[in-house]
Amino acid sequence: MTPLEIFVAGQWRLGGGEPMVSTFPADGSLNGTLHAASLEDLDDAVNGADRAWRDPAWRQMLPHQRGRILQRVADLIEQQVDDLACQQSRDNGKPLQESRGLVMSAAGTARYFASACELLEGEITTPRQPGVMTLSRYEPIGVVAAITPWNSPIASEMQKIAPAIAAGNAVIVKPAEATPLMALVLARLFEQAGLPAGLLSVLPGKGAIIGDALARHPLVRKISFTGGTRTGRYLAHVAAEKLIPASLELGGKSPTIVLDDADLDQAAHGICYGIFSSAGQACIAGSRLFVHRSCYQPLVEKLVALTRGLRLGHPLEAGTHIGPLITPEHRESVRRYVAMAREEGGEILCGGQVPTTGELARGNWFEPTIIAGLTNKARVCQEEIFGPVLVVMPFDDEQHLVAEANDSVYGLAAGIWTTRSDRALMLADQLEVGTVWINTYKQFSVSTPFGGFKESGLGREKGIQGLKAWMQQKSVYLALGNPVNRWCE
Ligand code: NAD
Repeated sequence: MTPLEIFVAGQWRLGGGEPMVSTFPADGSLNGTLHAASLEDLDDAVNGADRAWRDPAWRQMLPHQRGRILQRVADLIEQQVDDLACQQSRDNGKPLQESRGLVMSAAGTARYFASACELLEGEITTPRQPGVMTLSRYEPIGVVAAITPWNSPIASEMQKIAPAIAAGNAVIVKPAEATPLMALVLARLFEQAGLPAGLLSVLPGKGAIIGDALARHPLVRKISFTGGTRTGRYLAHVAAEKLIPASLELGGKSPTIVLDDADLDQAAHGICYGIFSSAGQACIAGSRLFVHRSCYQPLVEKLVALTRGLRLGHPLEAGTHIGPLITPEHRESVRRYVAMAREEGGEILCGGQVPTTGELARGNWFEPTIIAGLTNKARVCQEEIFGPVLVVMPFDDEQHLVAEANDSVYGLAAGIWTTRSDRALMLADQLEVGTVWINTYKQFSVSTPFGGFKESGLGREKGIQGLKAWMQQKSVYLALGNPVNRWCE
């Protein structure tokens, strides 16, 4: 197989680093081989980006012209949704239907930021002194780094590239080791859409080598990171040393709460989707379930029945609910957590095994698993598993419930199921999380800010502030007529 080229400052070339492969998690077959970016490639990308964002042709390009490039990228994505979804599914094993949703969301993100950059306005701020006009305007930051995880590459990469470009920056993407391909596909689309050379580079490679060197490069003026909390904390130190902004979208251990008046059927479907879609490999996976004791038994029975009916299968086959996990190592980590839950006294209500028959034996599948009999202090309730594992716990008292739901270092998201919106809103007020879903779960809108409380992150993506996060404000004072600084007289 001919190695794929990487995209460095407007040039397609073989990476100068060690060989890398992308494999299909369903059967280990090869998607592509490539060479990681070398430190020289990185330097070329950053220097090219620095020249490109300073180029007057780019600095003076009107917002609607930048927006037009993003609109063209969205058109190109929409013309090949099935193809891109298939590539995304081969890259990380997600069922095709989920990948389709991510591809469409990438197109929507490009369109949103294309429009948002046109709407962004500076301000004429009210001056204290007469005779002075003061303006506040938004300017690009310069060369920015986007470091992404493997679970939803096309969507998470677009969530950074689109606002970065809309804001007038040059962006360098470091995709995850396991999924280097979608960012390269996106680079081709931006090139085809007419993005000037140098404004986007894609540097596959190891996080500890290329990701680290990218974040530390003196010309990189912002780090936008999505990934695990441990890496996020490390990058926050790097950003602190350089005194540059870091936006961090990190891990989660999200609680879902079912109140005694909930529609149990609707709740069971939502909970099942919230934890088991993407085989639980989602930062927002609703992995801790608190159910009022009065409806605990019927709800758990419904959930177990729904979960037993989920179809584990080939990601590219219609009707598959659960695809393989990303790597054999990650599947082993999930298996160890389930074994740990058993040792801590947990009762496995369904799942809990690695499938060993048929085509499932060739890939990294793990059965969707529901565990009862543990408290929120158990390690499987405190640590992010990032797999298809749900722990169910009954509760009696709402105040105690709030304390338990908030007893986590994470604070990414929460779900509430109840037929009374007043109860839901009062509960939502008390939850220490960045997103609360009421009678739904995992719904997203690009115009609604997203990010975490506590160790789930810093800063917000999406929405207008998701664009401003890629800019810096400059204040300008203009004296009108009468001189105001005649200090020496
Ligand atoms: P990870 O932290 O291991 O890696 C993420 C990215 O960081 C990869 O590109 C990796 O190569 C890079 N990296 C690793 N070490 C680095 C270093 N020292 N310097 C610079 N870059 C480095 O995470 P992962 O396993 O790829 O992804 C799973 C995690 O991502 C989970 O914790 C999940 O919750 C989180 N996640 C969060 C969100 C969110 O929006 N909050 C979304 C998706 C995933």
